[in-house]
Amino acid sequence: MRAFLKSTFLSIIALFIFIPSALADNAVTRIDGSTRYATAVNVAKKGWSSAQTVVLIGNSINTDVLSAIPYAYQINAPVLSTDKDKLSAETKSGLQSLKTKKVVIIGGVKIVSNSVVSQLKALGISVTRLSGNTKYDTAVEVAKKMKASSTGIIANGFVDAVAIAPYAAKMGYPILLTDNKNLQSVTANYLKSKGIKKTIVVGGELVISKTAFAKLPSPTRVGGATRYDTAVNIVKKFNIDTSNSYLSNVNAKPDAVSGTSLAAKQGKALFFVDKNNVPAASRKLIGEKKIKQFQVIGGTNVVTANVISQLKNPVVGKKVFIDPGHGAHDSGAVGYGLYEKNLNLDVAKRLNTKLNNAGALVTMSRTSDTFDSLQTRVSKGANAKADIFISVHANSNDNSSANGTETYYDKTYAAANSLKLAQNIQPKMVSALGTRDRGVKTAGFYVIKYSKMPSVLLETGFVSSPVDSNILKSATYKDRLASGISSGVSGYFR
Ligand SMILES: [Zn+2]
Repeated sequence: MRAFLKSTFLSIIALFIFIPSALADNAVTRIDGSTRYATAVNVAKKGWSSAQTVVLIGNSINTDVLSAIPYAYQINAPVLSTDKDKLSAETKSGLQSLKTKKVVIIGGVKIVSNSVVSQLKALGISVTRLSGNTKYDTAVEVAKKMKASSTGIIANGFVDAVAIAPYAAKMGYPILLTDNKNLQSVTANYLKSKGIKKTIVVGGELVISKTAFAKLPSPTRVGGATRYDTAVNIVKKFNIDTSNSYLSNVNAKPDAVSGTSLAAKQGKALFFVDKNNVPAASRKLIGEKKIKQFQVIGGTNVVTANVISQLKNPVVGKKVFIDPGHGAHDSGAVGYGLYEKNLNLDVAKRLNTKLNNAGALVTMSRTSDTFDSLQTRVSKGANAKADIFISVHANSNDNSSANGTETYYDKTYAAANSLKLAQNIQPKMVSALGTRDRGVKTAGFYVIKYSKMPSVLLETGFVSSPVDSNILKSATYKDRLASGISSGVSGYFR
């Protein structure tokens, strides 16, 4: 009996575990701790069960600490951090559980004091320090400890250096620093003395000037319009593995350093989110690389639950084109004081907001009372390289008793996926509005016939019906409708 119960129990568990991945949300794991120090320890434990050597940084974090990432990779050391004057309690227990015998401190006594050194020694840990008078000197001191390389990375911006660090580690390239005006002499001298023949410059001209760039040995630059774009461009240019990508808040320096050290160890990409949102550049990368698994570094104080739900939503990074039907001189159907063109635009704008909040990249054919030909709408969708096309309409009939909601697709292009999209959206619209379910139908309406991506045309209700028009006048119902369509879209991508 007990064995029977046990096996029944296990098969129930198995049912939950073996849900086909095609029907699942994206997988997101958060790695955090009660403090920044605890987060660093927990991140380290994901990559190391024990660590003979640990790299230790202070809590005032400059770009030079990132020069430690490729070095730490070469000596197989995780990166932990501490208070300046006292070895942080979480770090102390982290060092003990990692059975650490040696600590390399990055930076001088103004970053990590000698009383921390004494505390470490009292734990039986040997301590060395890598530091210079400036952050530029410190980066050079770290580079000197690395194996020889004919290529070097030149960085200035903290975030740029975080993003390149996993690649630099994998390739054995030191990360050296400069400012935004000129090449620092300590950096120039190091490049020369080590015979470095090639440099990779991370960041745009505002971060590393043309003057500095011109003084470097065969430089190539990777930058972007924003810090998010630079990180994404680094991932793309160097083809860093994006499966199970790491994400950190662009402004949470300690978490970014811990995250990039683990990403380096595992050969994975790290790019950025904001506290409450996945920015457009990162969404694009997620869409292009079809990333389904994420590891987020830091607690809810740096990355909120909203970011986690965007990442989990299979619509994240998908390009959705919304076409509000009619416009300007073309009012569409009219009834009970409703103009279809206005209703369509209202619903479309609400849908835009919902999909944006969900993580999608949305383009609209119109955002005000303007008119486009049907072909222009199709072309706009194609130019947006949309993954799906949604045309929003309302119905009308001479008979005022005609009512209900229906979704059309066309079989000319992407028939199966258009049907799938329609089947996902239609029931969500009906349950949001409580209207009559007229089902999924086929028709060769121009915009869905000539759009080559999966496309649907929604007839939300009848403006000619006293029942439907009342519902469609309600802001509450229009908002529910938009949420319903948005969740149908997520369902399609699931
Ligand atoms: Zn219409």
